[in-house]
Amino acid sequence: MAEILVLVEHVDGTAKKVTFEMLTKARQLGEPSAVFVGAAGQAATIVDKLAEYGAQKVYVAEGEDFVDHQTAPVAAALATIVGDVSPAAVFIASSPGGKEVAARLAVRIGSGLLPDAVDVVDGFVATQNAFGGATVVQSTVTAGTPIICLRPNSTPPEAAPAAATVQPVEVSLSDSDKAARIVERVVEAKGGRPELTDAAIVVSGGRGLGAAEKFSVVEELADALGAAVGASRAATDAGWYPHQNQVGQTGKTVSPQLYVAVGISGAIQHRAGMQTSKTIVVVNKDPDAPIFALADFGVVGDLHTVVPALTQEIVKRKA
Ligand code: FAD
Repeated sequence: MAEILVLVEHVDGTAKKVTFEMLTKARQLGEPSAVFVGAAGQAATIVDKLAEYGAQKVYVAEGEDFVDHQTAPVAAALATIVGDVSPAAVFIASSPGGKEVAARLAVRIGSGLLPDAVDVVDGFVATQNAFGGATVVQSTVTAGTPIICLRPNSTPPEAAPAAATVQPVEVSLSDSDKAARIVERVVEAKGGRPELTDAAIVVSGGRGLGAAEKFSVVEELADALGAAVGASRAATDAGWYPHQNQVGQTGKTVSPQLYVAVGISGAIQHRAGMQTSKTIVVVNKDPDAPIFALADFGVVGDLHTVVPALTQEIVKRKA
């Protein structure tokens, strides 16, 4: 079977869920090999986890250069492995960093690249959202080795243990690979909620909330569901919620199993960031709000009544 490289998306050696989703998808189409690029000694801590999700090999490129110089050295490592093993395809997370690595890799190896894929089937035909999410297209790469960036939450991760063999990779980095250097890292203060782009459930609030303090209604529902909190741009522009929580064309793209839109009208720019969510639930007082066109379940009503009642019922059933 054809080998498919999966670039491990990780934070300080801890793999993110999208890595296991990509390994699961790669297993459906060929033989997955994980590629770990990071600081010295980190790979050893996650090889077992990668094997648990079916990685038959783990290519490892470690060293401080991969940590200090952003994405170019990661692309160089991948290009080296592609040159050595001629894989059938390369899967990379459709995160901002992942897409930058993918673009650099595409230039280096002269291959086509498909970002923002929500599915891939035989022949490496990817389902993609184009034009801000307004159009869904099926695409293939016609030149070189297909490089496909998969959105988090596109494939349910399924364990299928394999005996991963570790293969160290020597990468020679040029001066231009090291042209940009990270000089400082500031760790963002985090609450207890999941990361917005990785979360399986997202509850978002919009202008319909009416005031910053009313976001507590959204947060309480999110906490009852173990969800991340999102917001429309109207809400973030009003200063009701931080900009890093904005979902949409100029915010973050999410594709959770469940997306709950509370007091959000469903402007095209908001839809661009959430319309590939598996199940969409809407609470809006206007039955003609465009967001209802996307909804699997909708409640026409005042969010200040509906959402607390929903939260109360969920808490009661979980007790
Ligand atoms: P509104 O459109 O005002 O909708 C509020 C909704 O709340 C209404 O449907 C109303 O019926 C409902 N409501 C009111 N009160 C209640 C109540 N008590 N109970 C229940 N429902 C109630 N927007 C984004 O979200 N993300 C983006 O990334 C983004 N990028 C943009 C980029 C560009 C270039 C531009 C031009 C715009 C962008 N926008 C983006 C803005 C977008 O066009 C909309 O203005 C915005 O999404 C509207 O936010 P909203 O749905 O919260 O507010």
